[in-house]
Amino acid sequence: MTRQGSVSLDADNLWSYLKTHGDSTWEARPSYLDALRPRLLDLYGRHGITGTVFVVGHDAAKEDGQRLVSEMAAAGHEVANHSYEHEPWLHLYDRGQLEAELDRTEQAVVDAGAPRPVGFRGPGYSLSPELLELLAERGYEYDATTLPTWIGPLARAYYFKTSQLPAEELDQRVALFGSASEVLRPVKPYRWDVRGPASAAGLAELPVTTMPLARVPVHASYVLHAHSVNPRLAKLMVAAAVRACLLTGTAPSLLLHPLDLLDAADAPGLEFFPGMQIPAAEKARVLDHLLRSLTKHWTLGQTRAHAAALPVGGTVLGHDTAGPGSTSSRVRALLRR
Ligand SMILES: [Zn+2]
Repeated sequence: MTRQGSVSLDADNLWSYLKTHGDSTWEARPSYLDALRPRLLDLYGRHGITGTVFVVGHDAAKEDGQRLVSEMAAAGHEVANHSYEHEPWLHLYDRGQLEAELDRTEQAVVDAGAPRPVGFRGPGYSLSPELLELLAERGYEYDATTLPTWIGPLARAYYFKTSQLPAEELDQRVALFGSASEVLRPVKPYRWDVRGPASAAGLAELPVTTMPLARVPVHASYVLHAHSVNPRLAKLMVAAAVRACLLTGTAPSLLLHPLDLLDAADAPGLEFFPGMQIPAAEKARVLDHLLRSLTKHWTLGQTRAHAAALPVGGTVLGHDTAGPGSTSSRVRALLRR
């Protein structure tokens, strides 16, 4: 059983939450990255973790985002690609649009002083065969988008229900990505049958860890939510997640979000979000408990290191005919299921 796990934070900014919730104040691109940066550095530092931050290109091109990128990189953390505009419908983008999303973010990250990203996570867990192919071609080592849970498909179904797309397009797109059988994708890391210069054995996929068997996400937001109901419930949840991961030999890939480290005072406009009334210092104690519980059993490192620990010759999803630029029908079929 591999002991190499990982922890990553998706640096979703204040504006992207407001945008998702249809609040027009997002257009001024309000940001809390200057509040987030020291807390994230502290959290990783307290636990001796060299972790990952997935940054949005539009932020990395601005001053406070550049500070986040350069200080994280200087502290030895990985800076990875979380798209340029953080639009959770990337799976509807054509190749040219996807290329621009990747390219502009890579450029912003490099300009801010970090190495060119080799890892990607789609906003809102959105992913497509074209995107996987592009990642492989561009020298990415891994994708970390998938969340094998029943909660993702429900959230996406809701998005489609409330979207303005014409009915027939909607049908087509629901068929492509709205299926609840996404829950059947593997929980453990595996490889996609798409290859590129840095992924000769197949592009690695590092799913966000969901509770093995029950497939409930164990990411920090849920633990904090449980804590707000009853602190003992949060501890039981952490203990159950650790036990399930140990039993099934799953090294966790823990996902954090900015709101796990911030409180209502840091994020004006998001007071209504679950858990925002918990003071940031109290949240930090809950996260400390979670990280201590995990680091007892696993080394939590960068998602890049976690993907690299994936043995060559393990599970490969898709057919073995895909090369750079080609399309594997099996990968398409899998994503469509
Ligand atoms: Zn995000």
